[in-house]
Amino acid sequence: MDFALSDEQKMIYEYGQSLVKQFDRAYWVDCAENKRFPIEMYQRVAADGFIGTMVPEAYGGAGLGMLEMVLFQEGLSDVGIPLLSLVVGATMSLSPIGDHGTEEQKQQYLPAGCKGDIRFCFAITEPDAGTNTMRSTTLLKETGDGRYRLNGRKTFISDAAGSDYMLVVTRNIPYSEVKRKTDGFTIAIVDTKAKGVEMHPIDVSILMPEWQYQVFFDDVEIGPENILGEVGRGFDILFESLNPERIILASVCTGMGRYALGRAVEYANERVVFNGPIGAYQALQHPLAKGKTEVELASLMTRKAAWLFDRRLPCGAESNMAKYAAAEAAIHAIDASLQCFGGNGFTKEYGIFDLYPMARLLRTAPLNSEMVLNYIAEHVMGLPRSY
Ligand SMILES: Cc1cc2nc3c(=O)[nH]c(=O)nc-3n(C[C@H](O)[C@H](O)[C@H](O)COP(=O)(O)OP(=O)(O)OC[C@H]3O[C@@H](n4cnc5c(N)ncnc54)[C@H](O)[C@@H]3O)c2cc1C
Repeated sequence: MDFALSDEQKMIYEYGQSLVKQFDRAYWVDCAENKRFPIEMYQRVAADGFIGTMVPEAYGGAGLGMLEMVLFQEGLSDVGIPLLSLVVGATMSLSPIGDHGTEEQKQQYLPAGCKGDIRFCFAITEPDAGTNTMRSTTLLKETGDGRYRLNGRKTFISDAAGSDYMLVVTRNIPYSEVKRKTDGFTIAIVDTKAKGVEMHPIDVSILMPEWQYQVFFDDVEIGPENILGEVGRGFDILFESLNPERIILASVCTGMGRYALGRAVEYANERVVFNGPIGAYQALQHPLAKGKTEVELASLMTRKAAWLFDRRLPCGAESNMAKYAAAEAAIHAIDASLQCFGGNGFTKEYGIFDLYPMARLLRTAPLNSEMVLNYIAEHVMGLPRSY
């Protein structure tokens, strides 16, 4: 087994360090505090070719894989820039369009998406169905002429109003009428400015530049050109997107953990309150060292999951374990870092406490840790289903 990165992979991992010279954490925090999408940074990342990391070269992308996407995302998070919109836009939308889109759809969306000219969001969650996606009620109803009307609502959709298109998980057959609960799903590519689409912002207590929205669909017209893949086979596409989402979010977490630990080490080596720097106290060292160990272990599993995904090998177990371990590692690392900073950790100036809500979010979303552990217990270990 070879753990070494190629020169190109090292360069991708180190990209965050060069980006941060122009767009540093202070820029990101300013955008987050003003709830302004970091558009200048996003466009620079697009111009440098990273939005289309996983998109084939023929459609304007880099034609690389999940591992490269992980390295890129880890590198950004390492320097304090957990750019979640890349997760949704690039990994959750451009990749499935590349894999399942018609030639027209690929031509329409991929080159513009890679250039950063258009953005995507991904809408699964519904207020009533929650974690149980099977019970989604957003309905795509055929109108008889090969066209459809979309009705329903989604919630917590990140960057919905800033995005040009939304990949919407719909049901073309209601849950109560399907033989298998995974039947009757269809993914629709919806223009966010289409007639009948309405959005209301949800204010969340997390320092992040993306807004979340409740999205309402009221008789939105959908043509065959808006359907991704086959009508009724959308669950397969959704299922394929879930492992990449977990892998990428794990890399956001490990990066955030490294950033918090790096800041703590710097501070603890300088801060003197008794004799010598506080970093000499084992009581502070051990939680930091545990945090570092957890972060690096999680990173290894994340890279393994990405490596398997790129080889089209089963990676459900590894993706779930990586997401679980990385969220926990980030939470523990940030907590250990916060303790080192004493009162300063809670100030806006030092910005350590600000890291916590996002790391904590990733224990709950996009899939809560309980469901991740349910998966591991049932599908990896063979225990009975608990719900
Ligand atoms: C900031 C933010 C951004 C988001 N962005 C998006 C987005 O872009 N697109 C999108 O579609 N969604 C998005 N979401 C939604 C997110 O994915 C959901 O909030 C999450 O999946 C949990 O669903 P829920 O809130 O309905 O919780 P519920 O389903 O009500 O679950 C509540 C809690 O119950 C527990 N639980 C549920 N089921 C089980 C079980 N079987 N066993 C054990 N425990 C269980 C878990 O602890 C869970 O946290 C976002 C959410 C937030 C807060």
